Amino acid sequence: MSDWRTYVRKVEPYVPGEQPKEKNVIKLNTNENPYPPSPRVAEALMEFDYDELRRYPDPESTILLDALAETYHVDKNQIFVGVGSDDVLAMSFMTFFNSPKPIIFPDITYSFYDVWADEFRIPYETKPLKEDFRIDVDDYLVENGGIVLPNPNAPTGLAEGLEVYERIIRSNPDSVVIIDEAYVDFGAESVFPLIEKYDNLLVVQTFSKSRCMAGSRIGYAFGNPELIRCLNDVKYSFNSYTMDRITQKLGTAMLMDPEYFEHTVQSIIETREWTKQELQKLGFTFGDSKANFIFAKHESVYAEEIFKALKEAKIYVRYFKKPRIDNYLRISIGTRKEMETLVLFLQEYLSR
Ligand SMILES: *Cc1c(COP(=O)(O)O)cnc(C)c1O
Repeated sequence: MSDWRTYVRKVEPYVPGEQPKEKNVIKLNTNENPYPPSPRVAEALMEFDYDELRRYPDPESTILLDALAETYHVDKNQIFVGVGSDDVLAMSFMTFFNSPKPIIFPDITYSFYDVWADEFRIPYETKPLKEDFRIDVDDYLVENGGIVLPNPNAPTGLAEGLEVYERIIRSNPDSVVIIDEAYVDFGAESVFPLIEKYDNLLVVQTFSKSRCMAGSRIGYAFGNPELIRCLNDVKYSFNSYTMDRITQKLGTAMLMDPEYFEHTVQSIIETREWTKQELQKLGFTFGDSKANFIFAKHESVYAEEIFKALKEAKIYVRYFKKPRIDNYLRISIGTRKEMETLVLFLQEYLSR
């Protein structure tokens, strides 16, 4: 064997949900938004002058920062933007998690956290969720090198009360606590206002789920200006021109249409609640998801079997063959019509 292999960074990569090449599938496996972005985004795309592509983009993404500052009523220096929240989270791990003490996160959570920890050689410990998939706050009141928690959690969809997150943030003044709010707009309460109160809190959000733009890769974080400065120092030492010119404009256009955003989010919440009722009638059980997906198991048929049958029928949902959750399906909320097709299929399949 050649020597170079000894010095390769070896990591086991994150496995994203499948993006099927075939058309006419019902895609409920990666929590994308079933609606297109606002018509404002279409206009911005049409108006884009391709000659601009000769120039590097604004490394600070100023137009997008300004629009975020206005939308959320914070100062620009309290916001960091990245190429999807995966980029923001990766940068945050690199920036804030350099302690020899382990960082902590739940055993059942976003499956990218342990991948980044391995990638950056960050020691970590996972804390088992309780039987009902809720977090045990005491697990997070121990010495640690940092904490990352999603609100609501993925793939369970469960959100804790604000006081739970606040207690964890307040009790860990010497660690940065990252709250990953990829799904918060679908009904959970955001910890975002707490950035004014705690200098160790970083709140990460994304355009991929509630803002219909997974294809553009836009993520952002809120925190006190010093945290944001630290993040930017690391970003500019890694790759400064991350967000391209088109994306900066399209993201800004999306923020200019809050009515569209609220309307589409509301539709998804309504469809989610309808789907919950239907799944319950079919013998599924699940927690009270506050996200754009339902994490469900069936009373008598194995999840993996249902998963395969659905795939045959070109309905893609997510199945994780992992301890504790291998009898669950994570079903993204699509349009009402897509969910009706899913329910019809399940009615037939389960009554065989
Ligand atoms: C989808 C998701 C992300 C990443 O989203 P981006 O598309 O990179 O913005 C981050 N955290 C959780 C929990 C997610 O589900």
